[in-house]
Amino acid sequence: MIKPVPDRDSAEWWERVARHEFVIQACDGCGTLRFPARAYCHACHDRRWHWQEVGPSGHVLSWIVNHQPFLPDTPVPYTVVMVRLADAPDCVMVGGWQGDAAPAAGQAVQAVFSYVDERFCVIDWRPC
Ligand SMILES: [Zn+2]
Repeated sequence: MIKPVPDRDSAEWWERVARHEFVIQACDGCGTLRFPARAYCHACHDRRWHWQEVGPSGHVLSWIVNHQPFLPDTPVPYTVVMVRLADAPDCVMVGGWQGDAAPAAGQAVQAVFSYVDERFCVIDWRPC
C-alpha cells in the first residue's frame, strides 16, 4: 500500500484529507487556486493563502497502468489516474483508480477517500 510522506507544505493537507475534507490552496493576493500545496503563489508570489474547499470531482486527463513492483506491499498491476479538477481546471490531482473498467480520457470522475492506516487517507478516483 502506498503511504503518504507529508512534508512542510503538505502536512496539513494530509490531515484534512484524513478528515475527508477535499481542499486546495487559494492565494489571498490574486485568488489563484493551486495544488499540490506550496509556500507561495506561482502567479503573484504572495505567501498569504488559505484552504478552499472544492468539489471532489473532475475529468480524467491521463492515466498509467503500472506493472513494476516498486513497493513490496503493493500488488501490480495497478492504475494511477491524473484528474483535472472540475472546480479548479488549472489543478491536477493524481490518485489510484477504483473503476471496474480502464479509465478513458475525459471521463467524469469522483474522489474517494481511501484509508491507508489509522492516520492517513489517500485520494482515489472512481467513475461518476
Ligand atoms: Zn497569487
